Amino acid sequence: MRDPILLTPGPLTTSLATKTAMLHDYGSWDADFNRLTASVCQQLLAIIDPADDEFVCVPLQGSGTFAVEAAIGSLLPKDGKLLVLVNGAYGKRMAQLTQMMGRACAVLDAGETEAIDTEQLRSYLAAHPEISHVGVIYVETSTGILNPLQQIADIVHASGRRLIIDAMSAFGALPLNSRSLRFDAVIASSNKCLEGVPGMGFVLARRSALMEAEGNSHSLSLDLHQQWTYMQRTGQWRYTPPTHVVAALASALEQYQQAGAQAGRLARYQQLCDHLLQGLQRLGLRSFLPAEIQAPIIVTVHAPAHPHWNFQQFYALVKQRGYILYPGKLTEVESFRIGCIGAIQAADLDGALAAIADALAQMGIPQEQ
Ligand SMILES: *Cc1c(COP(=O)(O)O)cnc(C)c1O
Repeated sequence: MRDPILLTPGPLTTSLATKTAMLHDYGSWDADFNRLTASVCQQLLAIIDPADDEFVCVPLQGSGTFAVEAAIGSLLPKDGKLLVLVNGAYGKRMAQLTQMMGRACAVLDAGETEAIDTEQLRSYLAAHPEISHVGVIYVETSTGILNPLQQIADIVHASGRRLIIDAMSAFGALPLNSRSLRFDAVIASSNKCLEGVPGMGFVLARRSALMEAEGNSHSLSLDLHQQWTYMQRTGQWRYTPPTHVVAALASALEQYQQAGAQAGRLARYQQLCDHLLQGLQRLGLRSFLPAEIQAPIIVTVHAPAHPHWNFQQFYALVKQRGYILYPGKLTEVESFRIGCIGAIQAADLDGALAAIADALAQMGIPQEQ
């Protein structure tokens, strides 16, 4: 039986080639595996196009949050203070993990329906000289909001602060070039727009910032400086590597290059997202975000305003037809989400839209016009 199509932004549907790449066992000390890791790191760095030696890639075992926690714990000095720009669950999570490791942290909260306000950021930084670093979420996956990264980076740089970007659900698809954008670190993972399988994150860090990070970390396993120096010395991961995940990512990156790299991926996701939005509109379902701030990654949809609405039942009916949706993450509004990333095509979205129409009919929910 065919696996259901995952319309969830990670884990997501992977290609057969990516799955097949995992049918090998590698030893963690083995030269073939070390070459694979080095090649993956080099390709990840090439995506941000750094000038010679300016950035380094530090891969890390675990899900994306582990890499965010490692980046903050390693790059924020113990006497530093992080300002987190929050407009959804992932911004809140960055602030929470910073507080939990006992570092100073402030939050600029823009609610959950709007992009980060850059003028507010500018005046906050002017009024708060104690802020040393700023953390931002490129695409806030809890809704799909696209934040104005270039303006934010320009303001942070002009004010002499350092920028840490959680680009988890944007990396590889949305533009992110270290020659035009000033930042100290970008954090992402294997299982989003690069279309690998889950199990590793990575931090692309400015070399000078990572060199200054020695001794900052509160954690043994999440210390990026240690992870990197060990890998430099031995060519190996510190502690057991996710060998199959690395092999799958190496294959996914090969497919990524063949499909036109970042520009190719963005074009495909934009088409998928437009196709999805049009289909939803035909069904009388309303998307939550205005078009100007809708990233082509995940679409938040208002739940039908009908007494029969029940997400659990809706989810189960759509799943029976072969598609996995995502619950909403909004605190005030009843919603659900549909991802438009992964090894999927417009025909898969058509199938999902038909399944959604059937499920609503079965639940006795008429299409709103
Ligand atoms: C997916 C994601 C993360 C990491 O989530 P994990 O569940 O730990 O992989 C962090 N930030 C953003 C913006 C994300 O989309």
